[in-house]
Amino acid sequence: MNAINLDTTRAETVITNGLSVDVEDWFQVGAFEDVIERDQWATLDDRVERNVHEILDLFDEADASATFFTLGWVAERQKSLLREIVARGHEIASHGWDHERVFRMDRKTFARDIERTRKTIEDCCGDRVIGYRAPSFSIDHRTPWAFMELAEQGYLYSSSVAPVAHDHYGWAEAPRFAFNPLPWDPMVELPVTTAEFRGKRLAAGGGGFFRVLPYAFSRWAIRQVNREAEKPAIFYFHPWEIDPGQPRVSGAPIKSRLRHYTNLHRMADKLRQLVKEFSWGRIDVIAHREATRLQAERAAKSSVAL
Ligand SMILES: [Zn+2]
Repeated sequence: MNAINLDTTRAETVITNGLSVDVEDWFQVGAFEDVIERDQWATLDDRVERNVHEILDLFDEADASATFFTLGWVAERQKSLLREIVARGHEIASHGWDHERVFRMDRKTFARDIERTRKTIEDCCGDRVIGYRAPSFSIDHRTPWAFMELAEQGYLYSSSVAPVAHDHYGWAEAPRFAFNPLPWDPMVELPVTTAEFRGKRLAAGGGGFFRVLPYAFSRWAIRQVNREAEKPAIFYFHPWEIDPGQPRVSGAPIKSRLRHYTNLHRMADKLRQLVKEFSWGRIDVIAHREATRLQAERAAKSSVAL
């Protein structure tokens, strides 16, 4: 029978979500900062290169492109790795110099931190750095100067806000989706993804939540954002999260160790499923799209006001 196909689900627009990797090594994570001093870093087993290679291959399998928010400290030591990331079609953006949280810096220190990181990456890769992710999503109500400094230094987007209440980070009052943090500048902030359940926001943008909770939770959350809110999800993880062979840090609080080491051996397969199930792209592309949409919304509002 040659019936006309009325399957409307096919017409559903596929939303491209933002895929990102925060490029830092196992000894640079916030959870271990009281146990491992920064001046020890250079003496520790460097595993970021092998882990990033594994991630690049995994992305290739699904034809997914992504943004690698990279520490300046790593960029200075891994120039050929950075060039390979770029050559394989991905974006390099800034994750700050040495993972100092933004709310622990003053504006001048922050300005130096992001300038040094940007120049190190640009000297290595050539492309202009236009994106920034604060270490541990540490831009919040305490740092009103951070967005101003980013805009002044020419950044076009930031993905530095976790609009949720959490014990280590979070800015619960921030918008859930893309917004212009400065009314006079087109720079856009893309908060990491949250889902909504019974009026509460749940962190659902990756990292430990993706690794520890069942895959079905992330699938539900991303679908909710794509279908109900019709917005792109912003997802992140770290190279050390796919590395069960990393050295174990003793002496850190039990809660930090549990969070850090749970399900490392299952992460690569979970990621494979995720990158194949949804459509993924670089954060600069998503940022450009969202900035254009916000601009159109503002223009529409001001024409109504006229
Ligand atoms: Zn980080």
